[in-house]
Amino acid sequence: MKLYFFLLITLCVFYSSEIPAQQKPTTGAVDVIKMEELKRDLYAMADDRFKGRESGTLDELKVSVWLAEQVRLAGLEPAGDDGTFFQFFSLQRTRLSSLNSSVTAGDRSYLIFKDALPMISAAASVAAPTVYIADFAAIANLDLKDKIAVVPVSSQGINQNVSIPGRRYFRSVYQKYAPALINKGVAAIILIGDEEAEKNWNAIAPVLQRGNYRVDVPSAQQAVLSSAVPALWLHTSEHDFFKTTPTVTIKLVIESFEYPSVNIVGKIPGTDAKLKKEYVLFSAHHDHDGIRSAVNNDSIYNGADDNASGSVALLGIARAFRKKPARRSALFVWHGAEERSMLGSRWFANFPSVPKADIAAVLNADMIGQNHPDSMALLGSQSPHKNSSDLVAAALEANDAGPQFKLDVKWDKTDHSEGFYFRSDHMPYARVGIPAIFYTSLLHPIYHTPADEAKTINYPKLLKVTQWMYLTGWAIGNTTERPKVDEGFKLER
Ligand SMILES: [Zn+2]
Repeated sequence: MKLYFFLLITLCVFYSSEIPAQQKPTTGAVDVIKMEELKRDLYAMADDRFKGRESGTLDELKVSVWLAEQVRLAGLEPAGDDGTFFQFFSLQRTRLSSLNSSVTAGDRSYLIFKDALPMISAAASVAAPTVYIADFAAIANLDLKDKIAVVPVSSQGINQNVSIPGRRYFRSVYQKYAPALINKGVAAIILIGDEEAEKNWNAIAPVLQRGNYRVDVPSAQQAVLSSAVPALWLHTSEHDFFKTTPTVTIKLVIESFEYPSVNIVGKIPGTDAKLKKEYVLFSAHHDHDGIRSAVNNDSIYNGADDNASGSVALLGIARAFRKKPARRSALFVWHGAEERSMLGSRWFANFPSVPKADIAAVLNADMIGQNHPDSMALLGSQSPHKNSSDLVAAALEANDAGPQFKLDVKWDKTDHSEGFYFRSDHMPYARVGIPAIFYTSLLHPIYHTPADEAKTINYPKLLKVTQWMYLTGWAIGNTTERPKVDEGFKLER
């Protein structure tokens, strides 16, 4: 017995020392990443002085200058425009003019954004009789052509168990009624709010007043409600008046603006003469929600988790690559205007500062410092969101070798109510055919509130996630074959 045991031990020792060096997972310069530095950077970036880093404002430009300086100190080479760390792009904003727009019904008039909330930011000029729809199920029998349909809404069938439910309520209800009405040829839609709408009116009004932001990219697929049929919400108190079917006149006037936003881009060149022309792209976003409605007397949305956490992780990873470069080059992109619907990444994915075909993979971090210390999610790891089995396998291997997070897979499923895969900067890259994954510790009660502050971050967890991303990127940076895009990859929307 003893002899067998001895032999077995000897065999094991012998065997493990015989694994060829290149098959052992190597950990590169992972020890360069320090929790204290992540914490220092995060407190600086989520500080009140940046006023919530709202994109298209000076506060976003201010934090981008701070960030570029950290990137320079970390030893990265500029990889933006004209030998700088900056890649500027234009945000195009359209919104309805509250001064020049008007809505009247009979002898009543309504102020846009106060008395009437427009769901569609498009110019319109409509004067038509109204039809009061008491029973929506029976609209098949109504003649609504060129009329203004008035619908007292009901929240029946609307899923309220979602993040920022108040803001999403208006769009969900609009989508419940609008398609059928538009099919009937209505000239405009008036939704009379219910109790739920009244409760959330003040939260949605400033959001709608901001209007729409977009960037000029060919493959935009930017989800903006773009129907030509104007749609307005009115207060519950208007209900009885509209039973008298007054004639309504709607005049909506558009204003357009252009603002600068910016991606910060740096690189660490690879060591392999051939592979160094390819890039492992590490992605995060530096903007957040700025100054909005106050909660507990605090109106600054600091975005510590969203997404100072991912931003400082990239700084840590950059320092490790600086200490020990991989065979491929490492590219670091801190995107602007993510909170305006991923506009910085839509821009970079279409107009990258390195050849698009040379981007081997995108590793995106967004909100990585909250929730259970041992749990994480890797979005883009489940079909149909998985666009590269090779990349996902590398990430799972790095998790096994490193932090061993328990990985949630529910949030990457098509039937999950949050649709979270479609809500961060990896997605535009997947759409243009680049292997892409998304590291996140998922939503939490202080998501998109002024309470998302540096003191709430779990720093040991943030360190572990940063190490995991680094180890994945380090592996991808050194393999001879770059990760392939899976054949037949197609997103469900
Ligand atoms: Zn975010």
